[in-house]
Amino acid sequence: MQRSAPQTFDRVLSSMCTEPHPAARDAAERFLATNPGDPATYEEVAELESDAVDTLGEIAGLADPHGYVTSGGTEANVQAVRAARNRGRERTSNPNVVAPESAHFSFNKAADVLGVELRLVPTDADRRADLDAVRAAVDDDTVLVVGVAGSTEFGRVDPIPELVDIAHDAGAFCHVDAAWGGFLLPFTDRAWSFAHAPVDSLTIDPHKCGRACIPAGGLLFRERDGLDALAVETPYLESTSQATLTGTRSGAGVASAAAAMDALWPDGYRREYERAADLAAWFADELRGRDIDVVDPELPLVAANVPDAVFEALRAREWRVSRTGSDLLRVVCMPHVTRESLAAFLADLDAVR
Ligand SMILES: *Cc1c(COP(=O)(O)O)cnc(C)c1O
Repeated sequence: MQRSAPQTFDRVLSSMCTEPHPAARDAAERFLATNPGDPATYEEVAELESDAVDTLGEIAGLADPHGYVTSGGTEANVQAVRAARNRGRERTSNPNVVAPESAHFSFNKAADVLGVELRLVPTDADRRADLDAVRAAVDDDTVLVVGVAGSTEFGRVDPIPELVDIAHDAGAFCHVDAAWGGFLLPFTDRAWSFAHAPVDSLTIDPHKCGRACIPAGGLLFRERDGLDALAVETPYLESTSQATLTGTRSGAGVASAAAAMDALWPDGYRREYERAADLAAWFADELRGRDIDVVDPELPLVAANVPDAVFEALRAREWRVSRTGSDLLRVVCMPHVTRESLAAFLADLDAVR
């Protein structure tokens, strides 16, 4: 194997990363050596970042967003917890965060680094946050309630408006993790959007369904105070403060996010969502037709129950597939995943069963 060449995406079926859009690739290369962490020096990339934040806000239905392009969903989630902890300082010195157990493991990292207690509560029978369980876990020391809009394992969307109400009734903030789902949700037929539910902060990653190059995550706050709660002074830079977790960061992620969204929002993303949703529905039917138990896809992500030996045999045939914590095969219909690749996968599945 030639180690200097990356693998192709043909057989990658469980990843939330994909081929960047050509315009994103081009922009990444051009801005590779710029540093948006020093906006007074690298003004062009700083402007692109501000445009990217505005577009992310438009996609999420947040009219006047305050945020930045992070290194990914992990940094965005860590920073959202940090902002809530800092903003809750006057209320409690013993802060906790309440999240459904479907929340991404980045919240465990956040809790560990920031010294907050993470209260993970059960999900309901359909794998969404259980509102009674969330209510029971929230108390006077809760600074943040987390909802997931497109869970990593099952693509489930939590009841966000209800979670916002629970958080605000308790004097806490509500953060929604839409790292993967953020670019899909505007095109679903949900009764609500983030414009209706006053979420306080949001994670939405261009480097997943936004088709930007890695690293490009997104963190948005409804209010300026959210971002301000993260700011530290920067004595030797021309700008006076910095809210990001990283210092020097490549302009590649920022520029590629701006370029991808410029090329694809909204029609390109809508077309891709519709294609992926059809593909997931077709693939789920194909699996059911083989008497395989399937978790109904809400967003274009299919989880299915295949025996260990079958899973291992598919891995041995070089399919890059992974399993959920409960050992279900998980296929994420990202832009590079096609009807042809899934048909080839099904043929191999038939051969090894
Ligand atoms: C992928 C993912 C993350 C983590 O994002 P990274 O970019 O890998 O750091 C967080 N939350 C959800 C829901 C995700 O799917």
